[in-house]
Amino acid sequence: MRVLVVGGAGYIGSVTVSELLESGHEVTVFDNMSTGHREAVPAKAQLVSGDVRDEAALAQLFSSAKLDAVIYYGGLIAAGESMQKPGLYFDHNVSGVITLLNTMVAHGVLRFVFSSSAAVYGEPEAVPITEDQPLRPVNPYGETKAAIERLLRWYDSQCGLRHVSLRYFNAAGATANLGEDHSPETHLIPIVLQVALGQREYVPLFGSDYPTPDGTCIRDYVHVSDLAEAHLLAMQRCKVGSGVYNLGVGHGFSNLEVIEAARRVTGHPIPVRNEARRAGDPVALVASAEKAKAELGWRPKITALEEIVASAWRWHRSHPHGYSGAEEGRR
Ligand code: UDP
Repeated sequence: MRVLVVGGAGYIGSVTVSELLESGHEVTVFDNMSTGHREAVPAKAQLVSGDVRDEAALAQLFSSAKLDAVIYYGGLIAAGESMQKPGLYFDHNVSGVITLLNTMVAHGVLRFVFSSSAAVYGEPEAVPITEDQPLRPVNPYGETKAAIERLLRWYDSQCGLRHVSLRYFNAAGATANLGEDHSPETHLIPIVLQVALGQREYVPLFGSDYPTPDGTCIRDYVHVSDLAEAHLLAMQRCKVGSGVYNLGVGHGFSNLEVIEAARRVTGHPIPVRNEARRAGDPVALVASAEKAKAELGWRPKITALEEIVASAWRWHRSHPHGYSGAEEGRR
């Protein structure tokens, strides 16, 4: 298939692009390069710089490329930041996606895989979380994902747009060449590993008085290669219909357990400093991924936390300053 990957220069997007190419698909990456990395886009993919909020740029792209499907990874992703800048999140993650969807419909491209998030659930009623739980986001980031999921139902029934929304839990880990490089970094595992690399003095631990066994939040970490694999399956699924799927391994780890795992993997003491809770953080997010397994045939392969952290550690050691400093790190 000829696939457009919006946000394909980013963390999960780039791993998906690489898997798409390996499976024989033709790939165009559309990325505004605000957080993406040119070095993360394989040479066999065509890279077009542009923003989904730019209607003219999208129209030009869709007129020149004959596309079969679109996978969307674009948008802003930091739940904490979205509490400070809700309007910015609504602009990128809602307006931008609407422009993209309208362009797709206008050009008859009717298969769409959407990166959603566990953040749509807010504080879940029960864990593990099944897809039928109510959508009650507790931060604007989750609200943007829930809004697009709701709109997609109408694009499906009224415009014939077949879509799969993938609700990621916590993406983590790396492949040999592709890893997580955000600036500024806000995610727990890369921050922990930056401490192990000596780039930070300590991990700021946001909240140690949550109602969990060790007082810290619980998350379900899913390896980036397994997430990427789910997108290929979702693209096939769009041929027969639309759906919404959780992607997690079904097991939660507390923030302190993640730090402990990183201490074992890196051999570094990784000091921690207790800080206030971060606004907009749900207490525990753990997936039931039974539906993705049953309907998509998804089988996550790298499910042990230590293995996930070890893969990230290998990448961070070979890229201590991310993509821009990759050569320096390899010397
Ligand atoms: N966290 C933390 N210190 C950090 C970064 C994150 O204690 O420097 C916590 C955060 O408050 C949350 C968990 O780690 O409880 C996972 O946060 P992350 O930003 O990695 O992912 P999210 O679950 O928000 O998507």
